[in-house]
Amino acid sequence: SRPLLEVNDLKKYFPIKGGLLGGIKAQVHAVDGVSFHVSRGETLSLVGESGCGKSTVGRAILGLFDITAGQVVLDGKRIDQLSARVLRPLRRRMQVVFQDPFSSLNPRMKVRDIIAEPVRNFGLATSKADLEHKIRAVAELVRLPQDALGRWPHEFSGGQRQRIGIARALAAEPDLIICDEAVSALDVSVKAQIVNLLQELQKQLGLALLFISHDLAVVEHMTHRVAVMYLGRIVEMAPKREIFAAPRHPYTSALLSAVPVPEPATDRRRVVLKGDVPSPINLPSGCRFHTRCPYAFDRCRVEDPELRLSDKDHFVACHLQQPGLAGVAGVAVGQD
Ligand code: SF4
Ligand code: MG
Repeated sequence: SRPLLEVNDLKKYFPIKGGLLGGIKAQVHAVDGVSFHVSRGETLSLVGESGCGKSTVGRAILGLFDITAGQVVLDGKRIDQLSARVLRPLRRRMQVVFQDPFSSLNPRMKVRDIIAEPVRNFGLATSKADLEHKIRAVAELVRLPQDALGRWPHEFSGGQRQRIGIARALAAEPDLIICDEAVSALDVSVKAQIVNLLQELQKQLGLALLFISHDLAVVEHMTHRVAVMYLGRIVEMAPKREIFAAPRHPYTSALLSAVPVPEPATDRRRVVLKGDVPSPINLPSGCRFHTRCPYAFDRCRVEDPELRLSDKDHFVACHLQQPGLAGVAGVAVGQD
């Protein structure tokens, strides 16, 4: 069967106001040709440094702005070109949990009303009693105490507020939840609780999760597959095990090098990047990672590598991973 969510060659360019470079208005290539899918009951994590475009992908799926090109397909239906009115009932099926529950919860609404709002807005309750039943059921799902319903958001800790944010998302009875750095601001122990909660909810409800995060330790704990983004593109996408144990793109190796390894004996290769992330306004020629890649060779400066199947379910955008050369990057990225 078709995956729940399909994103095909998504592009989002932002014009820069008043920015004239040689007579051409400059554009930020925030997302520059991104394709992936998420299935029911699956977690796909979008990872990468800040500014790589991962949050923009999430917002584009939610229809928060017009996309420049590409398609967003939910359950076989293209949704990126729909009017707000037609999109509305479909939008119910995709909910979002943001990083900051402090600013995303209305401080003038009690928890009960925060959870009730989507139930009412989407017409999901058949009666007042049914509404009350649904509010209580959702609070129970996220393990908020029942007395929480009569209280205000500011009365709760960060972790509890994030439970309220998740409850609000669940109240819409979604198929997909987009978590945009949803646990990044939380303390380590609270983070673990919320991550475990998300995993349990996924199992219980068959939810698809698009988990946008720069926190690779959390991603390794909870995801099924990973898509690594660099400057608006996916450079590697594979099942978790493959990404963490046998990364094939030099950028993935570099990202993982920055994560503390629990067992020093683990075969995780070290790559330390030189320089800063180039500007998404002035993208490097060829492979957009070539200015920082320790393995760049002549071809990399002129030819843009496509994201290609390198092994079962394992996609890589690197000239060292072309057929016949498979595995070269893995060897070249070498032991430290
Ligand atoms: Fe590095 Fe070249 Fe591969 Fe790009 S294509 S990641 S520059 S080796
Ligand atoms: Mg972000």
